[in-house]
Amino acid sequence: MARKYLIETFGCQMNVHDSERMAGLLEQAGYEATDEAADADVLVINTCSVRERAEEKLYTRLGELRQMAADTGRDPVVAVAGCVAQQEGGSLLARSPGVADVIVGTQAMRRLPMLVERAAGERRPLIDLDPYEDVTWPLGVTRRSDPVKAYVTIIEGCNEFCSFCVVPYTRGHERMRPKADILAEAREAAESGRVEVQLLGQIVNHYEAPDDPSCDFTGLLEAVHEIPGIERIRFASPHPRHFSSGFLAAMQRLPKVCRHLHLPVQSGSTRVLGGMRRRYTRESYLELVGRIRASLPDVALSTDMIVGFPGETDRDFEETLSLAEAVRFHSMFSFKYSPRPNTLADKRLADDVDEAEKTRRIVALQAAQRGIQSELNEGLIGREVEVLVDAASRRRDTEVSGRTGQNVVVNLPGPADWMGRMVRVRIQRAGPHSVWGTVPLDKASVGA
Ligand code: SF4
Repeated sequence: MARKYLIETFGCQMNVHDSERMAGLLEQAGYEATDEAADADVLVINTCSVRERAEEKLYTRLGELRQMAADTGRDPVVAVAGCVAQQEGGSLLARSPGVADVIVGTQAMRRLPMLVERAAGERRPLIDLDPYEDVTWPLGVTRRSDPVKAYVTIIEGCNEFCSFCVVPYTRGHERMRPKADILAEAREAAESGRVEVQLLGQIVNHYEAPDDPSCDFTGLLEAVHEIPGIERIRFASPHPRHFSSGFLAAMQRLPKVCRHLHLPVQSGSTRVLGGMRRRYTRESYLELVGRIRASLPDVALSTDMIVGFPGETDRDFEETLSLAEAVRFHSMFSFKYSPRPNTLADKRLADDVDEAEKTRRIVALQAAQRGIQSELNEGLIGREVEVLVDAASRRRDTEVSGRTGQNVVVNLPGPADWMGRMVRVRIQRAGPHSVWGTVPLDKASVGA
């Protein structure tokens, strides 16, 4: 009987995609997927350390696995992968003794099958945090979890060293993937029926092809745009510091590129942005937003915000609120600051905004943002929008959902076999996080 594996993933799209890659590697080595931890011979926890709470989830999960082993006698090989593995290394074993068998760093995941085999044989923990410079990836190995969308990595690591961010320490320095490798993977995704490609990197608009000196991110978008079968292209995330006019012009003329930009701002205060080492100001960010909207009037913007960064005053926070109200983001990921190991902010700045005040600020920011999202979504009522159906309801087999080009989630009645199709939907109802609509009777066959 084939041995089974389960991968549990915490964190960002990059981690979701790393899990797809690790799943493919394990399947190549003869393992089969299972959804049950109790059935798994190998259990991989792909971790995130970008926030303290995400990191705590790992230790909670390791405690549950220890309990499972005590209750049922099931004792799978447990591999901890991802950013916490890279950051904590051997000290993770000391904090949770007797549970993890393999600690595999972010650049060492290609060696996962070999590590779990050895750990199973030797029954002693193995740690592999070695860097791996080669960012090519063999075709056909990734086991994609989404039938509609394909993640394609274009850049690994980051050189920006924002003072709060752990990524340059956990994912290493910036490495560009060859254009030929990216295009081959995008073509393969299209041939396997995926209609949307999401290009991933910490700063996608920094891309320069190592195998084609004339190709920057704009050139890459143009090349992906040529691939038959791909109907939508998304990317995450561009950095506000690296916007070229050529890139905006390309977004204007390439219809497959979705009218959505995730543009992390992190704070509305120039003083706080300086402490964060973001290398732009409130004013230059707002100027960029103006430039983007002049080129792409229908673009939706989303962002990331941190509240309670060291030294953030009431006035700084008011500037964050006023920036959110000025830009009117379609969505926002907002977090309370927590110091992350090794970062400049952790080493040099006191975490001096107390927890209650951080909570007050995040509650105020999220309430303001909910109001903005509700208003923007209510503006869609009565309009027809084009939706790529990407999910079927688990509870009712007559409901599906999808996203507009602007990344608004749309719920609608429809059969599960609409997955992967474009449908035109008339919006009837709106909430802060999604909208509801129906396909007009005369359009029911659109996209078929
Ligand atoms: S740009 Fe800044 S926030 Fe983004 S991954 Fe790099 S260091 Fe982290």
